[in-house]
Amino acid sequence: MVATKAVTSEPVHRGAGLDQETRSLVLESLREFGRRELPDELLLELDAEERFPEALVRQLFGPEIGLHLLFLPEEVGGMDAGAIDICTVSEALAALDLGVATSVLATALGTDPILVGATPEQKERWLTRIADEGLLVAYGVTEPGAGSNVAALRSKAEPVTVDGRPCYRLSGRKCFITNGSVADLYTVLARAPGGPSFFVVEKGTPGFNPGRKEEKHGIRASNTAELELEDVLVPADHLVGGVEGQGLAQAAMVFGYTRLMVAAFGLGAGVDAQRRAVAYARERVQFDTTLLQKQGLTHKLLLPHIARLQAARAYVQEVARRIDAGEEELQVEGSIAKLFATEAGCQAADAAVQVHGGYGYIREYMVEKIRRDVRITTIYEGTSEINQEVAGRGRWRQLLIGKGKLYEELAAQMRALGERCPSVGAARLEASALAMVALVQRARKARLGRQQHVIFELARAISALEAAVALTRKAAAWAAHSDHLPDTAPEGWPADIAALARLQAAEAGSTVASVVFGVLAGTHTLSPEEVIGLDGRLHPGRLLASTHGSFLDMDQLAGRLATEDLLADPLLPVG
Ligand SMILES: Cc1cc2nc3c(=O)[nH]c(=O)nc-3n(C[C@H](O)[C@H](O)[C@H](O)COP(=O)(O)OP(=O)(O)OC[C@H]3O[C@@H](n4cnc5c(N)ncnc54)[C@H](O)[C@@H]3O)c2cc1C
Repeated sequence: MVATKAVTSEPVHRGAGLDQETRSLVLESLREFGRRELPDELLLELDAEERFPEALVRQLFGPEIGLHLLFLPEEVGGMDAGAIDICTVSEALAALDLGVATSVLATALGTDPILVGATPEQKERWLTRIADEGLLVAYGVTEPGAGSNVAALRSKAEPVTVDGRPCYRLSGRKCFITNGSVADLYTVLARAPGGPSFFVVEKGTPGFNPGRKEEKHGIRASNTAELELEDVLVPADHLVGGVEGQGLAQAAMVFGYTRLMVAAFGLGAGVDAQRRAVAYARERVQFDTTLLQKQGLTHKLLLPHIARLQAARAYVQEVARRIDAGEEELQVEGSIAKLFATEAGCQAADAAVQVHGGYGYIREYMVEKIRRDVRITTIYEGTSEINQEVAGRGRWRQLLIGKGKLYEELAAQMRALGERCPSVGAARLEASALAMVALVQRARKARLGRQQHVIFELARAISALEAAVALTRKAAAWAAHSDHLPDTAPEGWPADIAALARLQAAEAGSTVASVVFGVLAGTHTLSPEEVIGLDGRLHPGRLLASTHGSFLDMDQLAGRLATEDLLADPLLPVG
């Protein structure tokens, strides 16, 4: 029988990465596919009929595009893409359709336990098949009683011998499984004697039946179904990694990375919705002027969302590059990215509905569907609350163990950047980072770390701060090229992204201020008088000063919306 001693599989490290030309080719062929095969009319039809476009998704995995090869290593015929490639493609895919994107995500997700935990023989066998045949894969983890708490799973894997051959008998039920009734291959988590373990199960294995297909609020072009496992016999060599009890570690390794993909999904859908809203506002006339000429509308429903989405993109790209540079243990960053980008995507899509007025509420208008679709990104792959827990508690520990070093260094970086490049909002972020250090120290003294709501609030401030820092860094990099702009950059881009970075730094400052005073006053740690008397790093004026001039920045940007795409992501020249 199979050994049960504990073994850790090698850390997740994505592929070597694509060169710029190949990445642009993949993106262009994907967009061309979208224009040709997924026009809005068809997407609305698929949504109305809740129909999964299986042939089109298999075409995406076919010889023309081979999108699935991005997720696979070269030795099995894959493209060995890096995290930055996959995040860029995920954003583009989500902007095409989140239902189709979710089906592609599920294939990557279902493949991941094999990628991170299988034996070399298993990798050779299964990954080659996935690559060569363009298989649809499903990731079977969630159960009716085990959602956020994966470890509560009840599906069982009993070792048995059949005709002298070692096997496992799987039994149980899975729910909400993407590609559940259309996949060719499944990775299923079940509790073996040695603990939760992944098993590869092929479509059509006796006793393995896709169950009820879910009727959903959004991503209705994706297939989601239950899985029934009734004494499903699989050979012992279908145990991923060959050792029982590795399943949760393999799932955790996958999370740090797939949460970044879902962050890119929230971003892609939010960007698509806002682009449609800007296009609508350029045309729609009320009270003799276009919606774009109404300051209240642009400053409420467009610009804050555009700045937030640009910050989400900058943060996702930063974390992806750190993964590609070989950095490990980025679970907290993965959670921050998912939390910030998916919440930003939902708010951006909701604002896009509002820009359309009554039309935004009508199924004929894509923003209505996008608003429903993007809602899933704050739920699957770890809900926003789970990511607030991971991000808030993770940074809380780091800031306490490191005596605030992480954000002290961040503040010093922002101070230096602000001196070098005063136009990108860095000085504002220095104040926010220092305030967070002071807040955590005060909160620790008052033993507030036990309160989950405090941790959740910290996560809200942390994600706003770190996303704004990423955008400020990106804007500073563009400022360095303002004299010799590459052809890929629209005229005036350095000034536009600098104004967006200032706007986001202002929002981060307000968010940090509301969390600092909310936590300290809300928990009675400080009396109202003491809050008013706060000084030094927690001085209210210091934080709110970060909003200085934000209305003017929005006025400047509103003038650009008529002609420019402020959601663009032109390629930064290297060096
Ligand atoms: C369309 C769709 C596709 C999916 N695809 C897949 C798939 O392919 N494979 C797969 O395995 N799963 C899949 N899922 C399942 C998804 O990952 C789970 O729904 C998700 O993890 C949440 O679990 P749950 O639904 O059981 O909610 P619960 O875990 O029951 O959560 C309910 C609420 O409680 C909150 N909560 C939970 N724990 C805590 C806590 N400790 N502190 C504070 N708040 C908490 C949650 O944030 C949420 O707000 C899919 C789900 C959907 C809807």
